[in-house]
Amino acid sequence: MIKIEGVNKWFGNLHVLKGIDLEIKEREVVVIIGASGSGKSTLLRCINFLEKAQKGDIYIDGEKMISQPKVVNRLRQEVGMVFQHFNLFPHMTVLQNVIEGPTQVKGMPKGQATELGKDLLEKVGLSDKLDTYPAMLSGGQKQRVAIARALAMQPKVMLFDEPTSALDPELVGEVLVVMEHLAKEGMTMVVVTHEMWFAKEAADRVIYMDDGKIVEQGKPDDIFSAPKNERTQAFLSQIL
Ligand code: ADP
Ligand code: MG
Repeated sequence: MIKIEGVNKWFGNLHVLKGIDLEIKEREVVVIIGASGSGKSTLLRCINFLEKAQKGDIYIDGEKMISQPKVVNRLRQEVGMVFQHFNLFPHMTVLQNVIEGPTQVKGMPKGQATELGKDLLEKVGLSDKLDTYPAMLSGGQKQRVAIARALAMQPKVMLFDEPTSALDPELVGEVLVVMEHLAKEGMTMVVVTHEMWFAKEAADRVIYMDDGKIVEQGKPDDIFSAPKNERTQAFLSQIL
């Protein structure tokens, strides 16, 4: 579903991604861990073409990302992204936030988008908040709306960049549960998170990044209980 070949990214002189090779299969759930500054967000942003890698290739479902507006726009629609900060439209209700993408970008008829939006908001447990404005929601609820909004574009892949790290601890679980359901339904997901519970429950594979490189990867149990690389060991000893 995603193929990344020899991806390198520089910000000026700063070499941020140093030759990333990665294949993610359909229905696979991959968790990326690593210290702050190791390049996790940049990698996700390259997969979604929010950043352009200077070297290397990225394929989404077999199609190569090239910097042609038509191709970028189409492939971007296939890759949903959820950020640490939810960026909901404050002047729109929850339902309006969710149907904005499908109606404005995809040209879906409003009635159909509304049905889809209601289904998705039910899925994330917010059926009773359709007409509420974001300001009235908790952080966990806002993030669940953001997930429904990304799903409304009917993407083939969902990327999550530390979706719970801005939340109060008691709100983290409700977001992770929604993500776990999505994983169980077979969504292809790449998740940057340090929530080990989620990695253990939902991930098929955990990837440890350090200094712009993939240093180690494997099944969650193997990585957490017996990391081979000493940098992985040192990192895990800090967060576990
Ligand atoms: P992570 O998500 O693992 O914390 P990032 O991908 O955000 O790491 O950042 C990797 C490196 O790239 C860091 O050194 C960061 O300061 C730098 N960086 C990220 N975005 C930019 C940018 N837009 N311009 C310049 N440097 C950036
Ligand atoms: Mg980051």
